[in-house]
Amino acid sequence: MKGAGDSTVITSILDDLKNKFLKSEYIGHKLIEDGVWGDFHNLEPLEPFIKNSPLKDFRINPVAPFTGCIFSCKFCSISTMPQKYKSVQFRNPDDFVSELRYYQKGSVDFKNRYYFFTPDNLFSNKKELISFLKQIMESDLHINYAVQISIEVADDEGLLKLIRASGGTHFFIGLESLDMRNLKHINKHIVGNIEKSGMSVAKYYASKIKKIHDHGISIHGSFIIGLPYDYYNSATDNTGVDITKFCTKNRIGAQPSTIVDLPGSVFFNESQENNRFIYGKKDTMDYFLSLSIADFAETNKIPPDSLYNSPLVIASMVFYISSKVGSPVRATINSTIIFMRSFIHPTKNGKGFKIWERFIDAVCSAVSQTAVALYKAAGRFSCAIQAWCQGYHGEAI
Ligand code: SF4
Repeated sequence: MKGAGDSTVITSILDDLKNKFLKSEYIGHKLIEDGVWGDFHNLEPLEPFIKNSPLKDFRINPVAPFTGCIFSCKFCSISTMPQKYKSVQFRNPDDFVSELRYYQKGSVDFKNRYYFFTPDNLFSNKKELISFLKQIMESDLHINYAVQISIEVADDEGLLKLIRASGGTHFFIGLESLDMRNLKHINKHIVGNIEKSGMSVAKYYASKIKKIHDHGISIHGSFIIGLPYDYYNSATDNTGVDITKFCTKNRIGAQPSTIVDLPGSVFFNESQENNRFIYGKKDTMDYFLSLSIADFAETNKIPPDSLYNSPLVIASMVFYISSKVGSPVRATINSTIIFMRSFIHPTKNGKGFKIWERFIDAVCSAVSQTAVALYKAAGRFSCAIQAWCQGYHGEAI
């Protein structure tokens, strides 16, 4: 199923199931069914192209080379976990490659060539990572893959080359904020390196993004909205506008998320101690709801004074970033540019004059860049949820 799980599409699935006549595809259109938010239109202009191309069969296959993470970002649900439970544990490279091969039985097409390597940060153990990548290089696999990874990977030219050659196509990077004070607040491990560089956060990030792009790898960055040093002076002067300008200037996609204290995070414990939750005290139904319904679309803590303590102000910035950075025009421009860069820097399968393989590599990079524009729908959803919650709790902006 694609799109929203609205009542129309769910009813039609259930009816077809009852009649033992399930279709191969269902598409939902209504994100919120009160008629206010309605259908989402962000990528619809591209639909005729996608429907009539091999891309309609495009699939992302998740695979895990290892588990665990070496960092402890305070907002992350693993940050209070004892080290031994979040330590990095690698699979045997042979075992991993055999799983990749399992998906690629038969001919290689858009259903079985694109993978998502699931670790939260691929850059956790360079030595082990290199042996995995070499194993892929030595295989006859034709793959493209997306990963979550630290921006410092840009400092290692050799590793970047190896990632690209082995099929690296798209990076999801946790940028989180362009304000150093916010990065310190969340215990982002990159702070020391940025300070050492003498650059601003935006300049430091931009320099690394350029290096990654130069290898033909597309990028989207995640940003947390609602951190203590975020600001909102007016509709044209706020943190959301700054992040939008940064993403459009550096030609990356954006995944803006509302600040939320996830159970298991350091921030979650702090909010419990300091009574900063929006929905009520521990052991109440409101408190329970704040845990069960809060996700990246809705905050569960009181936002900072600089944002008028308002979840709606946060939601409006999330919506602004995702709709501007994820607009069809922007997605098309970014995808076209990364297509060309990818074509010039192919994976191992496109090296030399293998024009068709180069073309496929380039298509995979471009598709990744286009797909992240879908966060526009998430931004809209966030805004709707916040509006509903503030209405429910009778709070004003
Ligand atoms: S946010 Fe990512 S890098 Fe930070 S602790 Fe969590 S998994 Fe690790």
